[in-house]
Amino acid sequence: MLVLFLFLIGIFIGSFLNVLIDRLPKDKSILGRSYCDFCKKTLKTKDLIPLLSFILLSGKCRYCHKKLSYQYPTVELLTGLLFVITYQFATLNFQFSIFNYQLIYYLFVVSGLIVLFVADLKYYIIPDKITTVLGILASIFLLFNPELIIPHLVSGSLAFLFFLAVYILTKGRGWGFGDVKFAFVMGLILGPIGVVLALYVAFLTGATVGIILILWRKKGLKSIIPFAPFLAFGTYISLLFSEIIIPHLPFYLW
Ligand SMILES: [Zn+2]
Repeated sequence: MLVLFLFLIGIFIGSFLNVLIDRLPKDKSILGRSYCDFCKKTLKTKDLIPLLSFILLSGKCRYCHKKLSYQYPTVELLTGLLFVITYQFATLNFQFSIFNYQLIYYLFVVSGLIVLFVADLKYYIIPDKITTVLGILASIFLLFNPELIIPHLVSGSLAFLFFLAVYILTKGRGWGFGDVKFAFVMGLILGPIGVVLALYVAFLTGATVGIILILWRKKGLKSIIPFAPFLAFGTYISLLFSEIIIPHLPFYLW
């Protein structure tokens, strides 16, 4: 029952995340009714039920019958699934209860990571508002856990300086300034060990995907591959699984 409840909450939040993904990079207001991307008709409430409306309309706009993007059901489903997975692993690792503030914090972080992932993939933009909100949430969480403030602040600063150095040396070709700012927030959320693991996962998956795309000749060596999706993926893996993964890594020395 609880899992189903979290899944349903997740797909509704996922439908809101779709709004953030498409409006924040264009500096549009996130308030106001949703409309069709093609004919701009305002959608009725019955067209806005997550997943279900997409299935009932067989993926087409009710008015102009143009094909709707698979982004909408994918993000909704992904958010639902990640809410359930996050709850399952968080209760396993940290004995969270459903009303634990730490679980709610984690679900907010997951939501922010999904927006960063898709917005950067689609528009090559990391919305500043999401980075800022995640930074504020992490700061509030640290106020509840004062012993973590110094190590997490230092981790964020070091990650920021590392990303800034590469950004300056590569004249912004390695990654954009949005990634530099997000690196600080990653450190703030994850702390020293967590941020190293997250970056390790991000670079490993980023390099793997990059090589595959080049071999497939989908991308040239000089074309842009957005990096925030890998940072978001690394952050999620580290947030939930660092306590399981770290003891198995070959460089584990502490
Ligand atoms: Zn339409």
